[in-house]
Amino acid sequence: MLARAKPEYAIPEVCRNFVNGQWVNSSVRLPVINPVDEQVLTEIAEADAGLVDDAVGSARRTFEKGTWSKLGLEERQKVLFRIADLIDEHADELAWLESMNIGSPLSQCRGRHVPRAAYNFRFFAEYISQSRSDAYTQLDNYLSVVTREPVGVAALIGPWNAPIALTSMKIAAALAFGNCCVVKPSEISPLTALRMVDLIRESGVPDGVVNLVNGSGAVTGAALASHPDIDVLSFTGGTATGRAIMSAAGQNLTPVTLELGGKSANIIFDDADFERALDGALISIFSNNGQQCLAGSRILVQEGIAERFIDAFVQRTRNLRIGDPLLPETEVGPLATKQHLDRVHSFVDTLEADGCKLLIGGNPCAGFEKGFYYEPTAVLAPDNKAVVCQEEIFGPFAAFQIFKTPQQAWDIANDSKFGLLGYVWTSNYATAMAAHEHVKSGVLCINSPIIRELRAPFGGYKESGVGRESGAACEAFYSELKTTAFLTGDVPLRKLGAGEA
Ligand code: NAP
Repeated sequence: MLARAKPEYAIPEVCRNFVNGQWVNSSVRLPVINPVDEQVLTEIAEADAGLVDDAVGSARRTFEKGTWSKLGLEERQKVLFRIADLIDEHADELAWLESMNIGSPLSQCRGRHVPRAAYNFRFFAEYISQSRSDAYTQLDNYLSVVTREPVGVAALIGPWNAPIALTSMKIAAALAFGNCCVVKPSEISPLTALRMVDLIRESGVPDGVVNLVNGSGAVTGAALASHPDIDVLSFTGGTATGRAIMSAAGQNLTPVTLELGGKSANIIFDDADFERALDGALISIFSNNGQQCLAGSRILVQEGIAERFIDAFVQRTRNLRIGDPLLPETEVGPLATKQHLDRVHSFVDTLEADGCKLLIGGNPCAGFEKGFYYEPTAVLAPDNKAVVCQEEIFGPFAAFQIFKTPQQAWDIANDSKFGLLGYVWTSNYATAMAAHEHVKSGVLCINSPIIRELRAPFGGYKESGVGRESGAACEAFYSELKTTAFLTGDVPLRKLGAGEA
């Protein structure tokens, strides 16, 4: 392995909590492990239920004061644009922190995740300037006007796989519509959220608007999800956690959006542009070290090209450059944690019983003294019942299946408890239209890997989620609709108790 680039940016010794504009410590410390050298990178000061309560209280008081919620639109926009600019100015540092923390290749963090974080703030800043509301005049003598108000305090719980891109989306949306929030990053990946909070403060967001609590899901996350003074909760993470969060929030009738897991089908027809589909299949399963909800992890290939396609895929997989994520040439870095590496590897034990053939990989990488490196892996499954075709592995682990007819492809794609993404590669317009009609997923990409249009809803069918994220979906989620009926004419009222019939 080549020598890694020298650390260039500071990592805080302790990741503290940010409540009402103050950094707050705690006596419970949890280590954050560097996935490359397995050393302690930093620690988090875990927020217990009391500190979570302080953070929610700070958000609530600030919301009621109106320093942010009643700020004029242009002022709010200016601050959001400033946050975006600050993210851009610190993009190298943020990408480096993200890569150090979770092991995603620096090139991907710098090229995609951090720019996306800046864009999230710009997008919502622009979106709010286009807000409109309705007025109804159909009732004689009344004018009913619909307005939006910020909903209040938003709890924002994020995952570890793309923390800056995903958490920034939640913060940007909550702030844009005038809310205060409490952010909880994963205990595995606190670094970029911490730095982002610094930048948000620098941008001029008043104290108490954005609060941050660090800690485990079981302690900090659970205290936040069940807090009775939260108005909405937005969560991105695993399906099992989503269930727990929805039931905790349900006790308080707190509305939730849940962006959950996936097992997306990547369907490649005989008539597809072969090279483009091959590039797309590799990108869809191996980007971000395979740790992405939107991974095209079930690759369905039509029988006419199956052998050639699978051979080419295996060949390209063999050539992937695995290594230190900070090195520019690295295409696949280590998995985020040892526990996750063990989980990914455990799926190899299911292959034999399910009749799957291991095509490449299937082991932790040899040749690295340290680090949670896992070989990019591909298997051929006899049918969709195989565990590796049903369960989200969330690693560099592709499961191929071969199909004959379009109907078979739709049936396999839909035979899943998930329904997040679908990918279809074809040069036939009618096949693309049929995919649009038949594939049951929240997002479908034709002849392309994931393309995220923030104006368009993103979210999952079935166990992949509840609700959507987009400009309009976030506007609906992070604001309350109010209808005010104004009397405009002369409408006599019944005189109850006045002795008239
Ligand atoms: P996770 O284990 O579900 O954790 C997500 C967040 O929830 C973390 O901050 C976690 O804290 C917290 N948490 C855990 N238990 C909790 C509880 N009982 N109450 C409140 N919070 C709790 O998910 P992950 O491993 O971080 O992320 C991987 C999963 O996220 C995959 O399934 C992936 O598909 C999904 N994902 C979905 C999308 C999407 O847009 N649909 C995007 C990215 C990822 P700790 O980590 O500190 O325990």
